[in-house]
Amino acid sequence: MKNILNLSAEELETYFKESGEPKYRARQVYQGVFQKAYEDFAEFTNLSKALRQKLAQDFTLRSFKELDRITSPIDQTTKLLWQLPDGLKIEGVIIYEGKRVTFCISSQVGCALDCKFCATGKMGWLRDLTAGEIVEQVLQMKKLALRPPTNIVFMGMGEPLLNYDEVMRAAEILADEEGVNFSRKKITVSTSGIIPGIRRMAEENQPFKLAVSLNASDQNKRERVMPVARKYPLSELMKAAGEYYQKTRKRITFEYVLIAGFNDSAEDARNLVKITRRIPCKINIIPVNSEDPEFSAPSPESVARFEQAVQNSVYAVTVRNRKGWDIRAACGMLYASNEKTRVSAKRKGRQTGCETR
Ligand code: SF4
Repeated sequence: MKNILNLSAEELETYFKESGEPKYRARQVYQGVFQKAYEDFAEFTNLSKALRQKLAQDFTLRSFKELDRITSPIDQTTKLLWQLPDGLKIEGVIIYEGKRVTFCISSQVGCALDCKFCATGKMGWLRDLTAGEIVEQVLQMKKLALRPPTNIVFMGMGEPLLNYDEVMRAAEILADEEGVNFSRKKITVSTSGIIPGIRRMAEENQPFKLAVSLNASDQNKRERVMPVARKYPLSELMKAAGEYYQKTRKRITFEYVLIAGFNDSAEDARNLVKITRRIPCKINIIPVNSEDPEFSAPSPESVARFEQAVQNSVYAVTVRNRKGWDIRAACGMLYASNEKTRVSAKRKGRQTGCETR
């Protein structure tokens, strides 16, 4: 059975045309699926019983099983663990900050890029999510969130630009005015620096926001924490980021995970300013969230010093609060225990790394 969440409005129209149904049926169903977020075809009371039965035979409306839900008593951050139809697991997080409600969603099961400070990287890559699975995360979260989302960020599990087609397709479904109707400007795609994906976003003039995770201001240090930097060196990444701005006129957010004693010195701050100052951008400093003693978060004073050092030199600097730290839902802490499946995926010779794509 197909997942109806994978279908665009046009694809649904084709389905109804081939089924001999009038075109307006597609619109009715599309709105029921994405706007009203019905979870059962029985809820489509504007359709005949026979049509509801046919839809239920051909499609699924929900494919996730919620395995766990944990809410922080400190800041209400909520982490969700879902099981996919093939048994694999992914996580998503709802974050509240003032008036902002951010849905942090996953684009892959696990991740091949192995950033050293990130729990997801330890899972390895298991598979890409489909557009329907990406959209379902948002629908599931909408049902539970205390308030509607103000931002959707591809900062959960996985590297979104290594699942480019499905991520962009999902983002378009989420933005469609007839459907979920979420502002394109409030959807952020966050990459570890996949240059071909950044270039493609620029060429296609994708309306979504781009965030690039830098985490070091020189090549050597970046390679130490982000193996992907060997393939896509910092100098080329910054060139691609500059070209992205030239083409799209959209300001990039550079994320910088701050690690005590590693990338938080005055020299690191100076280098960061040097490499970003020609690109209209925002810098988002994120004190590291890791349980590995090798990657400890700097003191608040050290974070403030670093922020001050870059503040007057670049366009805007923010420090991200460590939301969800107490429930292991903070940035870099998502980890769903898929280990057994990973071993069997490797045994079956499935692709496990972006280097082979
Ligand atoms: S930080 Fe992002 S790109 Fe790096 S391993 Fe984690 S999920 Fe993958």
